[in-house]
Order: sequence, then C-alpha cells, then structure tokens
Amino acid sequence: MSFFSKIIAATIPLVPRPIVGYFARPYIAGETLEDGVRVVRELNAKGIMATMDVLGESVNSREEALDMRRQCEQVLHAINEHKLDANLSIKPTQLGLAIDTAFFEENVRFLLDIACGYDNFVRLDMEDHPFTDSTLEMYKVLRRDYGHHVGVVLQAYLHRTEDDLKDLIADGKTNIRLCKGIYVEPVEISYRDRKKVQENFNQILDLGLRENVYIGIATHDDVLLEHALRRIGEMDLKREEYEFQMLLGVREKRRDDIVGTGHRLRVYVPFGDQWYAYSTRRLKENPSMAMHVMKAIFGINK
Ligand SMILES: Cc1cc2nc3c(=O)[nH]c(=O)nc-3n(C[C@H](O)[C@H](O)[C@H](O)COP(=O)(O)OP(=O)(O)OC[C@H]3O[C@@H](n4cnc5c(N)ncnc54)[C@H](O)[C@@H]3O)c2cc1C
Repeated sequence: MSFFSKIIAATIPLVPRPIVGYFARPYIAGETLEDGVRVVRELNAKGIMATMDVLGESVNSREEALDMRRQCEQVLHAINEHKLDANLSIKPTQLGLAIDTAFFEENVRFLLDIACGYDNFVRLDMEDHPFTDSTLEMYKVLRRDYGHHVGVVLQAYLHRTEDDLKDLIADGKTNIRLCKGIYVEPVEISYRDRKKVQENFNQILDLGLRENVYIGIATHDDVLLEHALRRIGEMDLKREEYEFQMLLGVREKRRDDIVGTGHRLRVYVPFGDQWYAYSTRRLKENPSMAMHVMKAIFGINK
C-alpha cells in the first residue's frame, strides 16, 4: 500500500457512516437474513458455495450473545429450508468468548447440534491475538464431539501459525481456512512484510496439503492463488479435497475463472445490521475504494 493510500485508510474511521455504507455495499449482502439468502441463491446458481456470517463482533453482555446465537440459529434453519449450498461462519466473541469461555462453549455447541442435525458445518472465524489460544483450544474440544461438522481459521501473518497447524494435525483430523489475517497485530508476534506473509502462507498450505488437512484457501492474492493451483495440480488432488474461498464483492472475475476451471469455491457472505466494523476493515484493505470514499467526501467527483 502506498504512503498516500495508508493515510487514506487511516482516515476511514472519520468518514460518516452513510458514506461508508454506500461504498461497502458490494461487500455485504444486506441487512436481513432474506438478503443473505438471496445472495447465496445467486452464488449457488453460478456453482459457487457460500458461508454465511451474521455481522457483529465482540459483545459485552450475555443477552447480546444470546441474540447473536438466535440469529445464527435462524441462518442454519434457512440454509436447510431453502436448500442452499452454504454453511455458517461465526466470530467467537460474538457468541461470548470474551465474556466467559464456558458460556461461549454452550452457545457454539447449541449451534453445532443444529448444524449436525442438518449435516451442515460451522466454522470458527479467527479474531485478534488475545483470542487465538482460546479459539484453537475450543476447536480441539469441539472437534472431538462434532468431527467434520466444525472447522477453524489460521492466519499466515502470525509467527506461531505453522506450530499451531502441526499441533492440530498431531491431535486429529483437521479442517482449516487459511488466510493472511486482517487485524493489526503487534510486530513481535506477526509478519508485516507482504512477501514474508506470502511465504508463510505457502509454507503452511504445503504442510497442510501434505498432511491431508482439508483447507479452505482464503485469498484473492494472485501469488498465493497461483501457488495453490500449482500444488493442487502437482498433488493431483480431487476437487472435494480442498476449496478456495473469497469475500463477497472482491475479485469476482478471478473467482469466476477459478470456478470455471473446475475448482470448488466458497464465498463469505456477511449480512446484518452491524455492518460498520466489517465495512471499514474491507475499505482499508482496498486503497482504490478508499480513494473513492475520500473523493465523495470532499466532493471531487461532483
Ligand atoms: C473467505 C475469507 C474468510 C476470511 N476469514 C478471516 C478470519 O477469520 N480472520 C481473519 O483475520 N481474516 C480473515 N479473512 C481476511 C484475510 O485475512 C485477508 O485480510 C483478506 O483476505 C485479504 O488478503 P488477500 O490474501 O486477499 O491478499 P491481499 O494482498 O490483501 O489482496 C490481494 C488482492 O485482492 C484484492 N482485494 C483484497 N481485498 C480487497 C477488498 N476489500 N476490496 C477489493 N479488492 C480487494 C486486491 O486486488 C488485492 O491486490 C478472510 C478472508 C476470506 C477470503
């Protein structure tokens, strides 16, 4: 990211919400479950799978966590009712991980019981580093009871991630989404250099594929996509043995090309009224979008 783009990204928190909402529109299905279902249907019609995410992050009260649990439950019912090719992604802190681990476990087990009943799947998204240990520990516990119905996420920007994958592999059958990681983490524990993150991503991917880990390869980065496609070819993997994953609204042409060449791809479909934090993260990642926001604010387009 250029210096100028960095400055623009840093000022996004100052941008009025309606403007953020306008520019974030491509990244979010809408505010309601119906919006989510509609977008997933459109993706499914193109042969693209989905994972649905009720927007919302760290909650401060049990009531809020229970409300989030109720919304996630509705997603699982809707996927079944509408016969969607989709699963559910949850953020551990939206279901109470920051409040009390036992309470979080209760909530996630509640959802996993429903998901298992529908032969569906729940993925624990990975948040920032204070929650890495507790999320991975919870995944290990849940995996013993829910097997292939549950998965977790590993972030290639963390120094620890290769060891985490080895630890998961040693402990049982593993299903991960591998991504770069989106939070701003301390330099002591994370790589900042783009090349270093790419190298670590590829190294972890190779290790996982060699060890028969099911990997959701979650990236829009051509360097990583090309590496993954090459490895998949060299290893002669069947299409059921891995999947690509992308975010709604990002690099749709590349996405469609990957699907067109016979690979399975899942799109992350966020929806809900708590769209603001997610939107600002997405806009910060996309300097050209951030530039449009600035132009709109300062009336340069008019
Ligand atoms: C399905 C999925 C789930 C994820 N889950 C998590 C998670 O649980 N925890 C976590 O920390 N992170 C998660 N992420 C985010 C991830 O960590 C990265 O921040 C994000 O994917 C950008 O990294 P990249 O590999 O696409 O590479 P980048 O180098 O950031 O992007 C490569 C190219 O993609 C395009 N691009 C990327 N982002 C955008 C954008 N917002 N708008 C327009 N174009 C864009 C640009 O052309 C860019 O050059 C997830 C990502 C995906 C795809």
